[in-house]
Amino acid sequence: MKLVEPIIAFQSALQQIRRDLHAHPELSYEEVRTSDAVAAKLAEWGIPVVRNIGITGLVGIIKNGTSPRAIGLRADMDALPMQEVNTFAHASRHPGKMHACGHDGHTAMLLGAAYHLARQRDFDGTVYLVFQPAEEGGAGARKMIEDGLFERFPMEAIYGMHNWPGYAAGTMNVCEGPMMASSNEFHVTVRGKGAHAAQPHNGIDPVMIAVHIAQAWQTIITRNKSPLDTAVLSITQIHAGSATNVIPDTAQLVGTVRTFTTPVLDLIERRMRALAEGIAASFDAEVDFQFKRNYPPLINHANETRFAAGVMKAVVGEDKVNTNVEPTMGAEDFAFFLQEKPGCYIFIGNGEGDHREGGHGLGPCVLHNGSYDFNDNLLPVGASFWVRLVETALPLR
Ligand SMILES: [Zn+2]
Ligand SMILES: [Zn+2]
Repeated sequence: MKLVEPIIAFQSALQQIRRDLHAHPELSYEEVRTSDAVAAKLAEWGIPVVRNIGITGLVGIIKNGTSPRAIGLRADMDALPMQEVNTFAHASRHPGKMHACGHDGHTAMLLGAAYHLARQRDFDGTVYLVFQPAEEGGAGARKMIEDGLFERFPMEAIYGMHNWPGYAAGTMNVCEGPMMASSNEFHVTVRGKGAHAAQPHNGIDPVMIAVHIAQAWQTIITRNKSPLDTAVLSITQIHAGSATNVIPDTAQLVGTVRTFTTPVLDLIERRMRALAEGIAASFDAEVDFQFKRNYPPLINHANETRFAAGVMKAVVGEDKVNTNVEPTMGAEDFAFFLQEKPGCYIFIGNGEGDHREGGHGLGPCVLHNGSYDFNDNLLPVGASFWVRLVETALPLR
């Protein structure tokens, strides 16, 4: 590893920042204390800050030299509505809220880079430090774009990074093209006609119709989309009825669809609707079909991915970089940024949980688990990567 020396010296301060954020988790668009803390640090280091981009989001600006070129680095700041089971000193002080996705660590890593870039200034151009709210379902990235992020802070590319438990600590993992899936949800209600369960011929049984629809939908995955395209259709809830002897009026099907491309998503949505409406009609029932697209697929741009991979190799060493990481069906709203700007999203290995000391819960150290904690050993690695990325992208002439 070739980390940035002054950042190594700054590690304990970064750890303090990270653990303070961890102890005070805030949910989507409620990151008031968090954004205050980030803004205070940036101000302390002489970095101009623009607040309230995407409600609680903020952008720090580090300008050096005369080049008009600029890039953006993004960290997310929000926590999850879940209970932390760890009992160490920096465990969440807010019941039912937890930094279980490591956004505390992402924020601290970007602050570490900001600290060094503002002091050292070995680059020519502008770095925009994008501290984003509401990644966990609130589409904070889209909100920042709607608030004029790319008009007010014109940048040629944007980069983001997420810790990834299960990959060795400090490894960096990326791939060109689709790396994370689109996330979508459906809420479908079958409207039949209730009856006495002993006299089904007097009603239109929505339960049987829902079962037919549920089975037929799986043929979209096996018979309609190309076998070479990846997609998941999971029905996660079926709701109907309230008694053993009553046929209900309605039945509900709820679930999620994940794809790596929009054309495949278009196909699945269209076929789901056609099957649901057609099957319901054939039974003299009706359907209310609601399909909601949440996050688009995250597609890494080829040039920026290759560029970032080169910087990764220089920082953590060739043997710790995987440029062909297996994509995940999880979703991430950084995808919205990559729809607007070239860029790349990176997984930094969080380890197998061996960084855990006393006070950790007994569950696995994986994302969205009550026993999770960000690996503080990554702080200087991620911050050094950000610094070298800037210095390489915006070189001094
Ligand atoms: Zn998460
Ligand atoms: Zn996350």
